[in-house]
Amino acid sequence: MSNNRSYAGSCFCGAVQFTVSGEPVGMGYCHCESCRSWSAGPVNAFTLWKPEAVNITKGRDNIGTYHKNESSYRKWCKICGGHIMTDHPGMGLTDVYAAMLPDLPFAAGVHVNYQETVLPMKDGVTKLKAFPKELGGSGIAIPE
Ligand SMILES: [Zn+2]
Ligand SMILES: [Zn+2]
Repeated sequence: MSNNRSYAGSCFCGAVQFTVSGEPVGMGYCHCESCRSWSAGPVNAFTLWKPEAVNITKGRDNIGTYHKNESSYRKWCKICGGHIMTDHPGMGLTDVYAAMLPDLPFAAGVHVNYQETVLPMKDGVTKLKAFPKELGGSGIAIPE
């Protein structure tokens, strides 16, 4: 497997385009209330990358950013309103939403914030109450 593989993505209208390079640090589903409220969807399928692996190749000026707290800087296209990614400065990672990377083979490794779920998923993948230990959470798993 090559580490030089890159995957392209764009917002809903195409004004913002970007690539990610290499392999994601992690992939999974976030069931938190914040993701739900912001995305207007029941869960957020995430892919986490080191910020240097993420390159905005077009339309940087069209990216809007909102942060309700310091842990998540949520980004979207100012023209179409399409969601793009979330920076997590505390974790040193960027979540490029899985749906934004159609060519990346998505394979969930974990569910986070499962205690807040409104869409239970019986897929046999670990369900963490909140966040993994490596990311400052409790690491406590809960049953499906
Ligand atoms: Zn757009
Ligand atoms: Zn979330």
